[in-house]
Amino acid sequence: MTTLDRDALFIGGTWAAPAADAVLEVVSPHSEEVVARVPEGSTADIDAAVAAARRAFDEGPWPRMSPAERIDVVQNLSGLYAAKLDEMATIISTEMGSPISFSSLAQAPAPWMQIEAFLGIAREFPWEERRPGVLGADVVVRHEPVGVVAAIPPWNVPQFTILSKVVPALLAGCTVVVKPAPETPLDGYLLAELLVEAGVPEGVVSIVAGGREVGEHLVRHPGVDKVAFTGSTAAGRKIGAICGEQLKRVSLELGGKSAAIILDDADEAAAIEGLKFLGVMNSGQACVAQTRVLVSRERHDAFAASLAAAIGSMKVGDPLDPATEIGPMVAQRQQERVTSYIRIGQEEGAQLLAGGEGRPDGLDRGWYVRPTVFAGVDNKMRIAQEEIFGPVLSVIAYDDVADAIRIANDSEYGLAGTVWTADADAGLEVARGVRTGTYGINTYTMDFAAPFGGFKASGLGREFGPEGLAQYTEAKSVYLSAPPM
Ligand code: NAD
Repeated sequence: MTTLDRDALFIGGTWAAPAADAVLEVVSPHSEEVVARVPEGSTADIDAAVAAARRAFDEGPWPRMSPAERIDVVQNLSGLYAAKLDEMATIISTEMGSPISFSSLAQAPAPWMQIEAFLGIAREFPWEERRPGVLGADVVVRHEPVGVVAAIPPWNVPQFTILSKVVPALLAGCTVVVKPAPETPLDGYLLAELLVEAGVPEGVVSIVAGGREVGEHLVRHPGVDKVAFTGSTAAGRKIGAICGEQLKRVSLELGGKSAAIILDDADEAAAIEGLKFLGVMNSGQACVAQTRVLVSRERHDAFAASLAAAIGSMKVGDPLDPATEIGPMVAQRQQERVTSYIRIGQEEGAQLLAGGEGRPDGLDRGWYVRPTVFAGVDNKMRIAQEEIFGPVLSVIAYDDVADAIRIANDSEYGLAGTVWTADADAGLEVARGVRTGTYGINTYTMDFAAPFGGFKASGLGREFGPEGLAQYTEAKSVYLSAPPM
């Protein structure tokens, strides 16, 4: 028994015994030891959670409360969450290996900032507005809750991708069943405790961790009105197809293969410093990682050498050590996957400038890989087209700015991108040409006031901003009778 062990599931707002006795063992990616055992949710647990959510939506107080009353409860959650940031960051680093330096920014404080941003957006949101119609009478346009939401997050940024769904769903008056990934069931328990303490009524939220099959059961469940998914493009296609058949509302946040375009006037040191974070953040396990680095043919060799020196010397090690810059991969299969791409890059003829196959020096256990930089990469190579999800960067040469934009767009993905330049106007012009849902000029900082999401195979719909809140509502138009003629 460790202090992180649990024997119950959070179903319908209370702690319930699991229907089956399967157990999820949470294994530390650093020590390869079991750090916690929790119940693995089964399809019967999902049925119970959806039934509770359905009841709470169809008969309970939550959807019938005013937006201001719901805002008060979410405000309580914000205060409670703010007091638990360190604990949340440590739990996530323990379960999935994120360096604590990253967790202390993005795994806990960023989700809390989402709550605050959504509270502000909900206060201004046009929940019910009266518009002048064209037929002589006004129309009342209401934004009503979409219903029971299935929220399915991945393991790489678990709280970030749970709160991006649960918070707008709650503010809109929905009820929610969350199915965390089997690698990261622990952070959901802390969130569940905070939801109860904040005063979220019975039935409104359930959190049941489990695998793919359980996830698919939730997606197909007739009691679910909307699916909000973050994960791989392969799973997203499958979930989108099921929702299409059932005409369920669906939003999909999927993979990426983002390009950082380094213009010739860029400050090289600043760009490399930026890529040390943006290229390999969360040990490269980030959907918005800038993994294709586009440099003019003249500057390619020098820039690639400097980048390789910077990435190759990053500190790899124990995720709980504050000095660690790159931690282990989440699981052995992910370590093997990343290593196989390092091999593929060499077979494809890319030039290996840093890293390579094998373990980093001094780390004889844990699912570590060596931070790797390839140069002379052709954008047609698999390492430039496929999402590796590890600390592996590809430097690609371009002929001119138009060619850089063409290469950036030569991807099935369209999630994020950056341009590095001394000329902000030139940067904005590049941003206009790249087909991605988000873009950064000399930076990439997600702002929760603005919509986030993907073009092309990176997804469907948007999270954050008023656009993200609107995804949890249905618009209803009520036509008022025209004044007598
Ligand atoms: P994954 O698709 O394997 O799993 C994601 C979640 O979906 C997990 O909870 C999993 O159990 C569940 N799942 C898998 N198949 C399912 C199915 N058929 N039906 C229902 N549920 C199913 O992805 P992953 O490996 O956990 O996460 C990494 C992926 O997530 C990467 O591709 C990454 O780019 C993407 N991601 C995207 C964003 C974004 O905002 N666009 C953010 C983070 C991660």
